[in-house]
Amino acid sequence: MTPLIELRAIHKRYGGGDRPEVGVLHGIDLAIGSGEFVAIVGASGSGKSTLMNIIGCLDRPSAGHYRFAGRDVADFAADRLAWLRREAFGFVFQGYHLIASETARENVEVPALYAGLPEGERRRRASALLERLGLGDRQDNRPNQLSGGQQQRVSIARALVNGGRIILADEPTGALDSRSGAEVMALLRELATAGHTVILITHDRDVAAQAERVIEIHDGRITHDSGARTPSVALPLPALDVDHEHGASLRDELAEATRTAWRAMRINRGRTGLTLLGIVIGVASVILMLAIGEGARQRVIEQIGSMGTTIMYLGSKPPVSGGPIGTISDDDLDAIRSLPQVHRTMPVIGDPILVRHGNVERTIYVYAGGETLPEIFRWPVERGRFFSAREQDELAPVVVAGNKAFQQFFPGVANPIGRQLLIGNAPFEVIGVMSSRGTDGWGQNYDDMVFIPYRAGRARVYRTQTQPDYTLIDVVSPDVVDEAEDAIGRLLINRHGREDFGIGNAAARIKAEMQTREAMTLMLSLIAAVSLVVGGIGVMNVMLMTVRERTREIGIRMATGARQRDIQRQFLTEAVLIALSGGLIGVASGLAIGFALLLSGIPVVFSLTASVGAFACAIATGLVFGWLPARQASRLDPVVALAGE
Ligand code: ADP
Ligand code: MG
Repeated sequence: MTPLIELRAIHKRYGGGDRPEVGVLHGIDLAIGSGEFVAIVGASGSGKSTLMNIIGCLDRPSAGHYRFAGRDVADFAADRLAWLRREAFGFVFQGYHLIASETARENVEVPALYAGLPEGERRRRASALLERLGLGDRQDNRPNQLSGGQQQRVSIARALVNGGRIILADEPTGALDSRSGAEVMALLRELATAGHTVILITHDRDVAAQAERVIEIHDGRITHDSGARTPSVALPLPALDVDHEHGASLRDELAEATRTAWRAMRINRGRTGLTLLGIVIGVASVILMLAIGEGARQRVIEQIGSMGTTIMYLGSKPPVSGGPIGTISDDDLDAIRSLPQVHRTMPVIGDPILVRHGNVERTIYVYAGGETLPEIFRWPVERGRFFSAREQDELAPVVVAGNKAFQQFFPGVANPIGRQLLIGNAPFEVIGVMSSRGTDGWGQNYDDMVFIPYRAGRARVYRTQTQPDYTLIDVVSPDVVDEAEDAIGRLLINRHGREDFGIGNAAARIKAEMQTREAMTLMLSLIAAVSLVVGGIGVMNVMLMTVRERTREIGIRMATGARQRDIQRQFLTEAVLIALSGGLIGVASGLAIGFALLLSGIPVVFSLTASVGAFACAIATGLVFGWLPARQASRLDPVVALAGE
């Protein structure tokens, strides 16, 4: 019959490389059958723990063969070893090795979790075991609320939760008082009687004597073996060829990882808060920058809408080649108007002029323009009417007041229609009041002005000036703006023989301005993105710290059957949870600040894409920056991790 555990010429050496090599085990030959109760006894430093770690697949021998149920363990991959640890073995350590932040019941549940047991079943089993070991009323206590004997019983319950066919107990009574020690020994004996294979390690011959077989070890060599005794009962082993890949269900494991992560975050509140802050600032600023940028962009678009995208400006200027400034004559304007792309033209003269009514005297901007102004500006009259084409032709002395100008000249007057304004020295009759418009994109406030017909202005107010300050040209459609610009340019060069004029294209100017704003938004967003990266580095830092602090917990999880993947997933979940919380708080505070800005009059337009994007970036940050620490955790050697602090 093949023995359960068979060691052939096992050697273990530590060190090597730059450190001195120490041989600990020197050719151990040992066979242990299923259901045996074996004590391995030896002085401190004789290599007992090293031997047990090899038997329990926590460590690999430097030389020799270890056959488990006839199979060479050297051929087993990491996942299959993890499977063995969680399905076949159950460890009981001198120092208990319980996870400090978890309750007794949760500690017992850990191997069952990695075995893929559903939550309810896990709970039921853990509770039943604790009950059986006399800890029914201690299930929700944390290890530091339990005595040594109680902690050791919790660790025995943990060793049994997946069946514990082979109990590996390394000095289980070493840290206990004699009564608790006796209780633990009684338990182990009971388990042996029930068919569990129990391998007990001790330096105490009296303790060893309670086993059915005693093996003595001295300086890494077996010096005496009382011989195997065939047990009356032996638990069957779990089938070795099952799908050892199968562990906890993803959902259960994520739930578990989230729970432990949440706990870790709560325990280190201050540190977590600071790390969160980095992500929060990053996410909030991404959302805010984009919202402010979009707000500014939409305001510019609104301005284009209010002016129309078909408006161009024509003015005169001195040619680059030198010479006097050009003149745009009425004939030029007639010629321009006859171009197919041009809908209408509106010559404008405007200057600050002294305007009087009664004893109110103000120097305000007097805008002499065309009768189509309300249409071109898309600006309705509020009271009365605008002047007509006929009044334009007849040089009629009529004036339409801007809303603010009206209030300044006629305070308390409900209807100023029919009253007179003295513009310069010429009397003009008020025929209308414009609706309120506000400041436009160029900083002009039209509400402060008064509007008179261009020709009346030229004849009665701006007498010496014979040509417009500039001319608004309204083209037939936004699509022909560029074409119209070319056509007007060619036409005027033909007529003037030189380029003594300039054409401004409102749409182009607005486009240029928008590009500037977009560049600015892009830059600010980049800064925001950088702060997200900095936040991510914070996450990485805190995760590396966590991994270091919880090395022993990682070791315990590995010893109880966690695969590398489980450990990696757990720490990755923690990193993502931090980032996720930061992302949520960041989105919330970004929106809150945005609304505050909105209330104070700054245009802010939130974008769902930006919010979702920033949030997704935060989570991605957690994944990217959590990956390295998580990997580091999962690559830890179980023995080294267990010994870690
Ligand atoms: P025991 O459990 O019998 O007290 P151990 O198996 O723990 O003994 O250790 C046996 C010897 O191996 C000791 O001398 C110890 O110093 C050495 N040893 C154990 N682990 C390591 C290690 N990781 N590196 C170097 N030496 C080690
Ligand atoms: Mg030891």
